[in-house]
Amino acid sequence: MHQDADAASAPTDARAPLAGVPVALKLNIATTAMPTDCGSRILEGYVSPYEATVTRKLRAAGAVVFAKTNMDEFAMGSSNEHSAWGPVRNPVDPERVPGGSSGGSAAAVAAGIVRIALGSETGGSVRQPASFCGLTGVKPTYGRVPRYGLVAFASSLDHVAVFGKEVDDAALGLQVIAGHDPRDATSVDRPVPDYRAEAGKPLKGLVVGRPREYFPSSLDPRVVELCDRALDRLKAQGAEVRDVSLPNTDLAIPVYYIIAPAEASSNLARFDGVRYGARRTGDGLAGMYEATRSRGFGPEVTRRILLGTYVLSAGYYDAYYRRAQEVRELITRDFANVFASGVHVLLTPTTPTPAFRIGAVSDPYAMYLNDIFTATANLAGVPAMSVPMGLIEGLPIGAQLIANHFDESTMFRAAYALERALGAEAHS
Ligand code: GLN
Repeated sequence: MHQDADAASAPTDARAPLAGVPVALKLNIATTAMPTDCGSRILEGYVSPYEATVTRKLRAAGAVVFAKTNMDEFAMGSSNEHSAWGPVRNPVDPERVPGGSSGGSAAAVAAGIVRIALGSETGGSVRQPASFCGLTGVKPTYGRVPRYGLVAFASSLDHVAVFGKEVDDAALGLQVIAGHDPRDATSVDRPVPDYRAEAGKPLKGLVVGRPREYFPSSLDPRVVELCDRALDRLKAQGAEVRDVSLPNTDLAIPVYYIIAPAEASSNLARFDGVRYGARRTGDGLAGMYEATRSRGFGPEVTRRILLGTYVLSAGYYDAYYRRAQEVRELITRDFANVFASGVHVLLTPTTPTPAFRIGAVSDPYAMYLNDIFTATANLAGVPAMSVPMGLIEGLPIGAQLIANHFDESTMFRAAYALERALGAEAHS
């Protein structure tokens, strides 16, 4: 963790919503006083000349932005084992991963260093670590929170997202960073409701969907049991639970692992030793590019760039990239249909398993399957969050709540109710 010793020196208004509250940011969110190296050698020592909109909003709200947290290189990973600066350990069990790619931010909250931390999400990088570390993690609707100053991985899937110790911490953090920003062309100009006003609201009339595709027969029965307990608790609070279907869910991983690398291969072209990145010398201009990029990027980032360049290349574009965009539209329509049928929020597991041991998952494809329940919400742009729902062999695991575009409020209403109804059961 990098720290800014002067972070607390600016005077703040004691009435500001985050007055004096320490907040940690992932290493891909721009700050001027600390590095923004994205966990990559290629950006070693890089300090941004400007701050991200979310960083400025946090400071304006009185927050003490004092630390930057480790991450999988360029946010590619689900375990935080792919950082140039070494792995992050899970404070719940230091032999295990905290999840990724925002593992450092998750660990900072789980260890009690901060109650609120920012991460980023392209396919689940806040919800999955929240599930593994026993925290709340919220990915807002695409366009709700400005991305200006978030280093791009896959621009159509990237979001700034929030970790909170409890639901209310995440709601407060999101409240402060949400809203329109003219510097981000995908930012949406819509009023931001008061998310914290959802605390304690009754659930009568709320329809919760249980999508069958998120409960495949291969899923650990203990995960199913914990989800059904969570659904029962919501029912006891007045919600109605309905079985629903999102038929294209199983296509999310193949589609995500075409679109995300394709966009990454384009976004990461700027790290060439000229525009950005620590330059290494080689034979001529081409040799310089080659030395800079092959020594600067780690193996997972290299794999994604190669994959992305391949699916975008002439002759393969139609077969892979265009096809993936079409299927992405089907996944988006699945959500639209289920919400149009009168369902307000969906409840699923966030992850198929609790945190695994460091080094236990070495096959890249097995690692990609960590995003199986989370990547859908990034592809569709709908808001989603993870809330602790219990333990399996002493390890936390989260319930995921997914709502319709810009309906974070309903999602928070369900999350507050679930947290209250589960009480100590969520952590036991
Ligand atoms: N685990 C996914 C990946 O490796 C998601 C990462 C993210 O959300 N940033 O691409």
